[in-house]
Amino acid sequence: MNPTLSSPPPRIVVLGSLNMDIVLRVPHAPDAGETLQGRSITNVPGGKGGNQAVGCARQGARVQLVGCVGDDAHGRALRDALAGDGIDTAAVRVVPDAPTGTALVMVDDAAQNRIVVIAGANAQLEIDEAALATQLAGAAFLVTQFETPLAQVGRALQVAQRSACKVMLNPSPMQPVDDAWWPLIDTLVVNEVEARMLAGLPADTPTEAAAAGQALRARGVARVVVTLGAQGAVAVDATGARHHGAPVVKAVDTTAAGDTFLGALAVALGSGNGFDAAVGLGIRAAALCVTQPGAQPSIPQRDAVLRHTS
Ligand code: ADP
Repeated sequence: MNPTLSSPPPRIVVLGSLNMDIVLRVPHAPDAGETLQGRSITNVPGGKGGNQAVGCARQGARVQLVGCVGDDAHGRALRDALAGDGIDTAAVRVVPDAPTGTALVMVDDAAQNRIVVIAGANAQLEIDEAALATQLAGAAFLVTQFETPLAQVGRALQVAQRSACKVMLNPSPMQPVDDAWWPLIDTLVVNEVEARMLAGLPADTPTEAAAAGQALRARGVARVVVTLGAQGAVAVDATGARHHGAPVVKAVDTTAAGDTFLGALAVALGSGNGFDAAVGLGIRAAALCVTQPGAQPSIPQRDAVLRHTS
């Protein structure tokens, strides 16, 4: 059965990074000193905060985004793209003295990626605690990741606790999690690499991921999801660990798969669906995402997910 969308839809506050992905198609990666003719250049909206906000919005949630862009063309294009998805960008601050976050993505003919990220304006994110508390009052989730300064993420988790708002944390790119944060997290979403590094246990198979997820849950988190790429995901809560397989699809680009998963998970949980049904929706949404190239353009709409995979 398909997870339902509540009426009114859940409100979700996403705090995180906004990047313009500049995607260069090249025959091969240039060596030091080599000059190469590339095949194409495309600007694609990305950044984990923006992607997760789009993931939530395309599943039907009301989304407010907290982040920073530079006072430049990329920043304006990102805000316009997010607004086009119905996302409230009033709390996206334009900083005067840094460029919009940028990811330079080089994709060669063997589909291998080489990526350089410049944090730019994302590094200047600073929480306005009073404004964030107002946003979080009555919201289903604060969703956040580790592409913005960790000290600010920590402050946001504290504000969420004071506002009685649940936190969904995706500790990506992986950095150690402060021990004081574990009890502040409702739902932790990690891939196999993050699970292994945080738990100190292997997490490559569903059985291993279940053990790693249980070790992470024991630190004080209510629920853990370990995503396993084409192997789907493992859901861990107080009742145990369950593996959910992924549909077999022709994967062309896994960029934003984890962000798509997380958006669908947050909206389904925020609508009052059970954990396993929510993980199932995340897997179905992410499976469609990997069949399309790019970050935000590849994140599917809710009706496409329900139509293609029910
Ligand atoms: P991340 O992109 O954060 O590293 P994963 O690679 O684990 O995370 O992917 C997140 C989710 O995307 C997986 O749990 C799965 O549901 C889906 N997914 C990723 N790769 C594939 C694939 N090749 N086929 C089907 N689903 C996939």
